[in-house]
Parts: sequence; structure tokens; C-alpha cells
Amino acid sequence: MSYIIQDISDRLALERLQHEFLAMASHELRNPVTIISGHAQLMHCRGSYSGHSVDTIIAQADHLGRLIDDLLLASQIEADRLQLRLAETDVVADARLAGEAMRAVRPTLRIETPPAASIVKADQVRLRQVFANLLTNAVKYSPEGSEVLVRVEQADGQVRVAITDHGVGISPNALPHVFDRFYRAEGASSQGPGVGLGLYITNRIVEAHGGSIDVVSTLGQGSTFTVTLPLSAMRTAREETD
Ligand code: ADP
Repeated sequence: MSYIIQDISDRLALERLQHEFLAMASHELRNPVTIISGHAQLMHCRGSYSGHSVDTIIAQADHLGRLIDDLLLASQIEADRLQLRLAETDVVADARLAGEAMRAVRPTLRIETPPAASIVKADQVRLRQVFANLLTNAVKYSPEGSEVLVRVEQADGQVRVAITDHGVGISPNALPHVFDRFYRAEGASSQGPGVGLGLYITNRIVEAHGGSIDVVSTLGQGSTFTVTLPLSAMRTAREETD
């Protein structure tokens, strides 16, 4: 009997996911396709090249690509099929690299890291995606020219990467939901495009590495997202014997 109930509730959860996916996909995937098609048709009708149209087409195609990647990753996570290629990697270098890449968009971004490496066992591609997602949000939800800080600290066999912005912040009502799939807080769409998958994916990747992520935020003042990861056991043991 309990198997039947479980089976029905699994099916309902799957149907709800499919429904959410279709509602989101039809809207969010349609938009860039419409813009790409519009600019291509404009150039075709005029019979002339437009730098602005080509830039828009490239930007929208990139956006579409990221959206599709996020949807594929979210569906892998849902099906418990997230595959990690684990190897020892230096979180200090990974966080620094992600921060430096984002400096092109936000020159006031600051990076504070300890001099020594912090080695964790992780999938480096996914880990960099975690930092890139949090940095993208920090920039998207804060005013141009305001400071974004990336801070790495090592303590008690763990490494912590905190990303702080001085932006719109998150209301106490919205805060418990920011890691939910497809969740966007009220007013988020006026700050920039998004579908509410970034933090869901970020959280699940961090959890899959045995870590955790937490957020402290004040509406109208800004937010700090902190990723905590266990240091590689091999490295910790090596340091203890040194
Ligand atoms: P998206 O940015 O695509 O909406 P996310 O999953 O990355 O989706 O974030 C979920 C929601 O959490 C956002 O819509 C926004 O309301 C809120 N949020 C995330 N990061 C920040 C931030 N740094 N400052 C303020 N709000 C944020």
C-alpha cells in the first residue's frame, strides 16, 4: 500500500516538474528566439549588415545557451544524475579566477584571499560555476559602481568563500525560498533576466561536494552568500604531520 502511495506521489512530483518546466521554458526560451529572429530578419530586409543587430544576436544566443545548460543540469540534479569529476583543486585559485573574470563587468570588485592554497576534493568545472553563479547574482542585484567583495578564509578543516554585495538585498519572507527551483523574489525581474535556477543549481552542487551554503541579507542594503567546503582529508592529514 505504502509503495502505491509513494509511486503516486513520485508521479505527481514529476508531473509538477514537467508543468513548471513547460511554463518556464515556453516563456524564457521564446524571448531570446524572438529577438534573434527579429534582428536577423531586419538585416535580411534591409540587405545590410548591422553591428548592433549582430551584437544582440550573439548576446541572446549566449543567454539561450546558458539557459539550456542550466535546464539540462537542473534535470540531471532532479534525477539524481549529477556526475562529478573529483580531483584535488585549490579553492583560493578558483575563487580568484572567477572574481577576476567578473571584474571586467564590475571593476569595483575586490578579492581577499589568504596566501596559502586551500585544497579540496572537487569537480573544478562545477566549483567555478558555483562562484560564477554567485558573482553574477552579486553584480545583477547591486547598482553599477558598488563594491562586490570575494573573501576566502580557511579555518577548522574548512574553507569559506563569502561573496558580499551592497545591492537590493532579500526580504525576510523571500530568504527561505531563494534556493528553491524557479524561485525569484518580488522585483527580481526589474533587476535583470533570470529564471530562478542559478541558486538551486549552486546549492545542489555545493551539497554534492559535502559542503553547505548560507545567506545573510538585509533588504535595501545587500547580501552575503557563503560557501563552506571541507578541506581535502589527504591535505589536512599531511599538514597535521608536518
Ligand atoms: P535568478 O537570478 O535567475 O532569478 P537565482 O536562483 O540565481 O535566479 O536567484 C533566485 C532569486 O534570489 C533571485 O531571483 C533574486 O530574487 C534572489 N537573489 C539571488 N541573489 C541575490 C543577491 N545577491 N541579491 C539580492 N537578491 C538575490
